[in-house]
Amino acid sequence: MNKCLFCKIVKGDIPADKVFENESILAFRDINPAAPTHILIIPKIHIPTLNDLKPEHSNLVGEMIQLSSVLAKKEGIAEAGYRTGFNCNEAGGQTVYHLHLHLMGGRTFGWPPG
Ligand code: 5GP
Ligand code: ZN
Repeated sequence: MNKCLFCKIVKGDIPADKVFENESILAFRDINPAAPTHILIIPKIHIPTLNDLKPEHSNLVGEMIQLSSVLAKKEGIAEAGYRTGFNCNEAGGQTVYHLHLHLMGGRTFGWPPG
């Protein structure tokens, strides 16, 4: 757990451009944005992937999704539309193994994703 990049951001050991923080959730801008707005919403506790979710995480994940909608409005991308997503494991494109919800907007996305 000590080696986890996002746990280090939660602890403040690595800087991040934070846009929201409370006792259970942190949101910060992606270092390599894939869209004009690209925010990562993470739980402060270390959950590696969606596969590790347990029933007791339901409120936490609900808060993360709710926050994506609030931040989309704040970023001015809600009306035009935006993309959210969890990548899970290798085939899903996950590279950081600490659960995170991508919030991306400011451009038009294709479907299905590559
Ligand atoms: P994944 O590919 O796991 O779904 O998404 C990981 C995301 O974390 C990527 O979009 C990547 O750009 C971002 N990322 C990786 N390292 C850092 C970092 O040190 N700081 C920030 N803010 N984002 C990072
Ligand atoms: Zn972690």
